[in-house]
Amino acid sequence: TERLKAGLAKTRDKLGKGLAGLFGGGQIDEDLYEELETVLLTADMGVDATQHLLKDVRERVSLRGLKDSAELKGALKESLKDLISPLQLPLDVSGHKPFILMVAGVNGAGKTTSIGKLAKYFQSQGKSVLLAAGDTFRAAAREQLVVWGQRNGVQVIAQDSGDAAAVAFDAVNAAKARGIDVIIVDTAGRLPTQLHLMDEIRKVKRVVQKADETGPHEVLLVLDANTGQNAINQVKAFDDALGLTGLVLTKLDGTAKGGVIAGIAKQRPVPLRFIGVGEGIDDLRPFDTAAYVDALFE
Ligand code: GDP
Repeated sequence: TERLKAGLAKTRDKLGKGLAGLFGGGQIDEDLYEELETVLLTADMGVDATQHLLKDVRERVSLRGLKDSAELKGALKESLKDLISPLQLPLDVSGHKPFILMVAGVNGAGKTTSIGKLAKYFQSQGKSVLLAAGDTFRAAAREQLVVWGQRNGVQVIAQDSGDAAAVAFDAVNAAKARGIDVIIVDTAGRLPTQLHLMDEIRKVKRVVQKADETGPHEVLLVLDANTGQNAINQVKAFDDALGLTGLVLTKLDGTAKGGVIAGIAKQRPVPLRFIGVGEGIDDLRPFDTAAYVDALFE
């Protein structure tokens, strides 16, 4: 929790300072709600989530007959927890062997870093992990993954073919032959507006389905929290094109836009499996609503 609090320092700073002024005592009135609206928008919660939270807080206030602004904090925390708790659905890889996880994202979102962290995370649970080097656009990315795998005892399937779907197909078959627990299929970074690249990643998914009719078991989108409201658009676009089952929100430690989680919850509630709160290998955490909200407010 301390680590999480430190990671969320920037968001907390912005949100917390704004809120501290509001919760200082005095009447709950329209001016206060207006200020609250501004603070929530400033933390990048977005218009929809902000309106939802204001309405929800107002209801709690009137239901309980609250009068003093100091009592507003508890109501807001509850509203926020209610809004984002549907995102808290931890990833369970025990239902399939191999469990096939596909990872998508725009360039620079933190995909490669997150894959390394995920591999470690699963290894620490006693699972064997195989990586499929499906970023066939950048030879350097492939080499990087191979070297990283050698160093960390993670098997990597790579090819020179330039065909991401072929790499994924090979990897699923190799994982089956070797009795691997979890496969992580990397893909090249892409924007949802690059339609030919979206076709390519859909093909990767189809080919995975051919290699294992139950898979892929998880389609993860890696998002950079710094992109704020644009992250929500990415979730929608990738979900429409590919069918997402989970999200990884990276770089929460470096941004004041941590409120974007509320926006995602309101607009496209895809389970937030993990949050990234630093560059270190252990800085990937399963998302926990209570810990997140408490870290924001305390
Ligand atoms: P990719 O292009 O999506 O594969 O992005 P990379 O994995 O190469 O990451 C881009 C940069 O973001 C690197 O410098 C990473 O160290 C950094 N990064 C990734 N995740 C996090 C995070 O949770 N916190 C911080 N502070 N940096 C991160």
